[in-house]
Amino acid sequence: MKKALFIDRDGTLILETDDFKIETFEKLVFYPQVFYWLGKIVRELDYELVMVTNQDGLGTPDFPERDFHEVQDFIVRTFANEGIHFADIHIDKSYPHENLPTRKPGTGMLTKYMQGDYDLPNSFVIGDRITDVKLAQNLRCKCIWLNDGRGLGADEITEQHHELKNVIALDTREWEKVYNFLKKVSSAAL
Ligand SMILES: [Mg+2]
Repeated sequence: MKKALFIDRDGTLILETDDFKIETFEKLVFYPQVFYWLGKIVRELDYELVMVTNQDGLGTPDFPERDFHEVQDFIVRTFANEGIHFADIHIDKSYPHENLPTRKPGTGMLTKYMQGDYDLPNSFVIGDRITDVKLAQNLRCKCIWLNDGRGLGADEITEQHHELKNVIALDTREWEKVYNFLKKVSSAAL
């Protein structure tokens, strides 16, 4: 069975911005050391990479598809140039109030991974938000939480969402720690 890393984009592969949308190259900054450590993960470990991102209001006049895709295509090409290929890229364009099942933490875009071909208990969501932790819970895998401190903290999780705590396999801000963790769990599985 295949193992997957369901990787968020904004705040995880690239830095989040204050207005939560990246439609110009001026706003694009890659996450520190992501190429080096994710590249090592790809070369040394056996995970399929899947990008999963909510892009609120993509396709509206405030956030045109064309601008987004210029930047997105550059991001994907830049990772590919470093040997980091995403098997699939899933983008939800809705707003939170629409409550669509495709929007993270919903698994509507990810049903193909839930049909038995993937080893979900040994797969991970990697993301910066509590919605990424909840996505991991909904997929029945674990979360590597690049907690950006903008939302809930780990303490609040303990009080408000006790069950989510068990979903968090690692809480860090550094891709180096993500690599070290995945390397360790992969060697333990051998
Ligand atoms: Mg994010």
